[in-house]
Amino acid sequence: MDLSFTKEEEAFRDEVRTFLADNLPDDLAEKVRIGGELEKHDMERWHAILNDKGWLAYGWPVEFGGTGWSPVEKHIFEEEAARANAPRIVPFGLAMLGPVLQKFGSKEQQDHYLPRILDGTDWWCQGYSEPGAGSDLASLKTRAVRDGDEYVINGQKTWTTLGQHADWIFCLVRTKTDGKPQEGISFILVDLATPGIEMRPIKLIEGGHEVNEVFFTDVRVPAANLVGEENMGWTIAKFLLGHERTNIAGVGFSMKALEEVKALARRTKRNGKPLIENPLFAARIADVDIELEAMKITNLRMLYTAQTQGAPGPETSILKIKGTVIRQALNDLSRRALGPAAAPFPSEAMFGNAALVEAGDVNNAADYFNNRKLSIFGGSNEIQRNILTKAMLEL
Ligand SMILES: Cc1cc2nc3c(=O)[nH]c(=O)nc-3n(C[C@H](O)[C@H](O)[C@H](O)COP(=O)(O)OP(=O)(O)OC[C@H]3O[C@@H](n4cnc5c(N)ncnc54)[C@H](O)[C@@H]3O)c2cc1C
Repeated sequence: MDLSFTKEEEAFRDEVRTFLADNLPDDLAEKVRIGGELEKHDMERWHAILNDKGWLAYGWPVEFGGTGWSPVEKHIFEEEAARANAPRIVPFGLAMLGPVLQKFGSKEQQDHYLPRILDGTDWWCQGYSEPGAGSDLASLKTRAVRDGDEYVINGQKTWTTLGQHADWIFCLVRTKTDGKPQEGISFILVDLATPGIEMRPIKLIEGGHEVNEVFFTDVRVPAANLVGEENMGWTIAKFLLGHERTNIAGVGFSMKALEEVKALARRTKRNGKPLIENPLFAARIADVDIELEAMKITNLRMLYTAQTQGAPGPETSILKIKGTVIRQALNDLSRRALGPAAAPFPSEAMFGNAALVEAGDVNNAADYFNNRKLSIFGGSNEIQRNILTKAMLEL
């Protein structure tokens, strides 16, 4: 197995780096660098720039308007984008629904929805989880009952990320109540402007509005919005979750965060010396550094498998666990380095402290708390461990 990049891949990296240097707007990169909240128009602006270049759908095949990049090229792009502080691409239309429609959608659905994802006409959100169905997703209860050429939907979805910006939601709904729960689920596309839908914000622990709950009361949806056959939603759901877990390792983000922690430890003084010279703190940084190096190699091994043998299977659970544990450990290190300045409610004086503001450190607590989500969403780390023990260790 050769884990080094080829000459062509290194040339591709240079091309990506040059493109980012020339096209990523400074104000967007700065917002990302200091952990500021990206607004809808910020995300749309970055999507439009990438779309003009033909790089927005970098996970799609060329025939649907994608780049057709190899797994290694995708990895290089993600790593360079994170290094340049580019906003993360909103995944719901591009990385989740797009591949679903390409595999399971009708020709009409592909022709209608895919171009609208690319040009930003439709913003999508994901309606999987419910108050009683998260890890045990197959127990979902939101009902869709066929009535002529429509379905009538009643129920509730929750944790709907960025739903407040969305035009459409793709939902898992129950279309059959007898038999195995997995065999009575369908995948349907719902226009959020349809009467009977109410979206309510959920405030997260750091105060941000990132997720929502969505209520459906007698919502009438054309039967033509069903993707695939009725009751085959579970197959589609699993296919989509596989896509949700790609790039979940977030290697580029962790590399960037590690650099920042090291810089912070260099400029932070404890007992008159830079914190990075404190043996205990240096050892903590080294621990994470080593874990990250090991994960980079694991990631490359999986890219190699994906490139040579098709998509990797349950191994992606390793990346989900390691990637999120590392990102949370980096959050923890910067919190320790900042000490009192990492308080959840920094005083006015701290906000006025140019050095802290300059370093983006005033957002530390918000970032720390917000990133608790990493080990929960996309399938919690406990569930990933269950997958590994069953599928790989065969326990
Ligand atoms: C910030 C955020 C954004 C999200 N965005 C979306 C979204 O856009 N769309 C969407 O549909 N969903 C979204 N989710 C939902 C997410 O997928 C679920 O939170 C996740 O699957 C866990 O489900 P739950 O919250 O119901 O927890 P539960 O399933 O109730 O789990 C609670 C705890 O028990 C543990 N646990 C449960 N079952 C087992 C088991 N069998 N073995 C061991 N431990 C177990 C879990 O690991 C967890 O620690 C989001 C969640 C968060 C936090």
